[in-house]
Amino acid sequence: MNLSKTRVVIVGAGQAGGRAAEALRAAGHSGPITLVGEEAHLPYERPQLSKAILLDGEPNPAFIRSSGDWAGLGVTLSTSSRVVAADIDRREIGLKDGRTFAFDQLLLATGTRPRRMAELEGTALPVSYLRCMDDALALRSALQPGRKVVLVGGGVIGFEVASAAVARGCDVVVLEKAEAVLPQIGSPSLSRYAQALHAAKGVKIMCGITIKRAAATGIELDDGTVVPADMALVGIGVEASVDLAQQLGLETRHGIKVSTSGATAIDGVHAAGDVAEQWSRCHDRWMRLENWANAQNQAIATAKNIAGEATIYDAPPWFWSDQYGANIQIVGHPGGGDEIVRGDVANGRFTTLSIRDGEVVGGIAVNSARDMSVLRRLVASRRTVRRTHLENPQFELKRSLAS
Ligand SMILES: Cc1cc2nc3c(=O)[nH]c(=O)nc-3n(C[C@H](O)[C@H](O)[C@H](O)COP(=O)(O)OP(=O)(O)OC[C@H]3O[C@@H](n4cnc5c(N)ncnc54)[C@H](O)[C@@H]3O)c2cc1C
Repeated sequence: MNLSKTRVVIVGAGQAGGRAAEALRAAGHSGPITLVGEEAHLPYERPQLSKAILLDGEPNPAFIRSSGDWAGLGVTLSTSSRVVAADIDRREIGLKDGRTFAFDQLLLATGTRPRRMAELEGTALPVSYLRCMDDALALRSALQPGRKVVLVGGGVIGFEVASAAVARGCDVVVLEKAEAVLPQIGSPSLSRYAQALHAAKGVKIMCGITIKRAAATGIELDDGTVVPADMALVGIGVEASVDLAQQLGLETRHGIKVSTSGATAIDGVHAAGDVAEQWSRCHDRWMRLENWANAQNQAIATAKNIAGEATIYDAPPWFWSDQYGANIQIVGHPGGGDEIVRGDVANGRFTTLSIRDGEVVGGIAVNSARDMSVLRRLVASRRTVRRTHLENPQFELKRSLAS
């Protein structure tokens, strides 16, 4: 194959798409690269949406590169361009505005969209979701002092927005269907910590609830309680944007299945980022990883493979969250085994390790970033650890990396 003529088209100009385009050039790909995204903005990273964009004195969106830099890199960037068709026989994608782009290699980096809550749709209560820059800018304007804000979903996004809403002077209630907050993470210690952290800031947290509908003055639960609300922000998870993959004939039950090189079941079609489903050793199953590090590093590895540089990507998942200045970092699957807690959950500085079959398959560091650097290496190393050591508070965590 003459790589200088290979046309790479990337659909989804988010973090994975943007980083893949950069990495293609860095890996020496000299053929045309087209990066197509439906949003009007230049590619940007999403973590700022629930943090700096809501919290800073002025919203100051940060972009991966300026439009001049994309042009300088020889990347044809097409924003405000929704791709509605993908045809593998013609090796072509089609845009809503009628334009088409031919490809030799296609990278799907279409991410996810928020799961919607039918019970709250179409009512007088303002209900919003947080996925893109425009959502964040609108949410920022809506978070006015004294407003009664109900966050549906006690997950990471809900709690980051709670933290920003408190800082902006709102009255905040979090409604969680599960019996404890942060249920997806699977760490009883972290759930306890987060619950206490938010309660101490005046956030009311209601777990084990079922929402019935939006009422005139708030949100009605199935036991008849009405939670007063001026607005609701729903953060109950996301669904992979797989419409194009389906048109191509790929199997897409949870996401687009990819190998460790980012390849799908169709030759010349790849996927990366939140939309891609990959094998996770820590979780012991196929899954989509929804985090910044995965979007970036899987996209870079996939781009290298497209450029002909054989690269394997199988890093354990890692992400962070900032709430009221507290730093929470999570690696692997903290709920994947028996939990060992080091430090003190009550004073907000602790580390957890999840042990399965003698290996550390996940962990959490709360306000303990130094422990996280050890934890990440421990999880990746797959070394056998001694439980009694880890349970001993005098035993230095980094010593478990020795020998
Ligand atoms: C509010 C928020 C806060 C977050 N905070 C953190 C954090 O603190 N730490 C962390 O590790 N992770 C965080 N994340 C997760 C992280 O941002 C995502 O994992 C990452 O953005 C995924 O990148 P992606 O490129 O795969 O998808 P996305 O960033 O979602 O990009 C996909 C892009 O594709 C576009 N697209 C989809 N379909 C089409 C189509 N048919 N045609 C054209 N364009 C299309 C979408 O509009 C979107 O712009 C956060 C996410 C959100 C939403």
